[in-house]
Amino acid sequence: MCQSTLSHPENLNDLQARFSDENVCKEYLAQLRWKGKPVCPYCGNNGKTYKIVTGYKCSNPECYKKFSVLKGTIFEESKIPLRVWFVAIYIVTAHKKGYASHQLARDLDVTQKTAWFMLQRIRYFMAEKTLEAPLKGIVEVDETYIGGAEKNKHANKKTAGTQGRSTKTKAPDFGMIERGGRVVAVTVTSTTAKILLPIIKEHVSIVASIMTDEFRAYMNLHHQYQHGIVRHGEGQYKSGEAQLTPTH
Ligand SMILES: [Zn+2]
Repeated sequence: MCQSTLSHPENLNDLQARFSDENVCKEYLAQLRWKGKPVCPYCGNNGKTYKIVTGYKCSNPECYKKFSVLKGTIFEESKIPLRVWFVAIYIVTAHKKGYASHQLARDLDVTQKTAWFMLQRIRYFMAEKTLEAPLKGIVEVDETYIGGAEKNKHANKKTAGTQGRSTKTKAPDFGMIERGGRVVAVTVTSTTAKILLPIIKEHVSIVASIMTDEFRAYMNLHHQYQHGIVRHGEGQYKSGEAQLTPTH
């Protein structure tokens, strides 16, 4: 199953018949996102999760957070049912030459404001080819952040790319952490700017503020993002444009 299945069902009748029930929609979304293996959006745990009435619960003892399949997707932060979203995606993607929000408002019988919001999200989906919403707010970025002990993380840095993938927690090499929110983890082959910057761009909203250490791969981030740097040893962030709260 791939995401294009969502955009191109046989016709609108098929789509509506298949996705009339919200739980069916959620199951479908879970398959699209996780291929049957839910990933905790808070800690990145892709091991065991518990199915609960409202969605899932993480099995990581340091997390145990509950999450819905909507968490971290373009559908989050709205009360619009998935069946309506799916219809909207179908309609908008079928109109290659563009589709106005007032038209969508009429077709879905929603307010102009709702239609505008949906259209922004759907355009993002079409451009980025992902249902995952970008991380926002303050986003901390580090090469060996997840899975490894905090005290080891910089000791590991020189060998990032060769370590961390075979541990029990399947520690990825590169993590992006939305403060108070989600984690996105990507296994990388090396930690050069050429590898890391496109990954950051893909997963982090351009309106986010990014926090890193002084690792040189991050030195050009300020061209695209608000960028705060923590200098280890000094224990504080030295920030160019924004005064951001220290966490170390
Ligand atoms: Zn978790």
